Amino acid sequence: MNDDYELLVVGSANADLVVGVERRPTAGETVLGSDLSVHPGGKGGNQAVAAARLGARTALLARVGDDAHGTLLLDAQRAAGVDTVGVLVGGAPTGVALITVDPSGDNSIVVAPGANKRLTPEDIRAAGSLLTAARVVSTQLEIPLETVAEVARGLRPGARLVLNPSPPAPLPDEVLAACDPLVVNEHEARVILGDAAGETPEQWARGLLALGPRSVVITLGAEGALTAERGEEPVRVESPRVAAVDTTGAGDAFTAALGWRLGLGEDLVTAAAYAARVGSAAVTRKGAQDSYPTAAELAAVAP
Ligand code: ATP
Repeated sequence: MNDDYELLVVGSANADLVVGVERRPTAGETVLGSDLSVHPGGKGGNQAVAAARLGARTALLARVGDDAHGTLLLDAQRAAGVDTVGVLVGGAPTGVALITVDPSGDNSIVVAPGANKRLTPEDIRAAGSLLTAARVVSTQLEIPLETVAEVARGLRPGARLVLNPSPPAPLPDEVLAACDPLVVNEHEARVILGDAAGETPEQWARGLLALGPRSVVITLGAEGALTAERGEEPVRVESPRVAAVDTTGAGDAFTAALGWRLGLGEDLVTAAAYAARVGSAAVTRKGAQDSYPTAAELAAVAP
């Protein structure tokens, strides 16, 4: 029955609390800001919404608090068409990102992980066929690393794990070996590779492949992406030229779209080209989840 899902996202769900300020406060200072705006976010939540809006049959495995923010996040998922049967409720307050943005667009962010930190390996085992029947599972690092490792262990034979290691952290070999692909931006590639990183995306891709994943995708903002598979030359994938308004959450949209298309049977380069179109469409509108295109909007914005 759970085989019906084309993408399972395991990850974080946060309420983003955003205040505009003339100037971000220094230590000990209080400043008055704009009205508060509250947006559904978190990398897991973003990915699930991005895929579902494109038409993917999507389920989310996450944890939120038994509070108003949790209700807001669940409502946003359901409105996008995500199956929230795997979203656990309670144990800690819903994760929150406290964001101040100044007129130049620079921001300061404090994240209170809350319930995301309580998504445990036991929760993953208890998910049963939601995980063990999934064809493609996409996850990130805003939940505990041991939980991600349990996801890698619980995959059914032949299932694909798509991992965006964000925020970047050293990854155990068993997780790296399961990634197909590991999806990183430049910052994440440099943190994971350290001094050995090199200067070109091709070098990063070769360095990352040497760590064990079956494939690697590096997102390159307006420049698109680079795909790399074992034993083959890396391939550059272009992103459509668009007028970028806000790049928030573009990487999550890219990764979700990539995982979905791989699960449909597309090869890595074809799936990455589709994902680049989705990422480019997402940057043409403000916000994260609010900016994600439906299939019809994608055809209009990034044909
Ligand atoms: P974020 O952290 O903001 O979510 P990211 O750093 O993880 O993003 P990016 O490489 O910035 O990821 O963007 C993901 C994809 O979105 C890119 O591979 C590209 O296809 C698309 N994209 C991002 N910025 C632009 C842009 N300015 N113009 C066109 N496409 C873009």
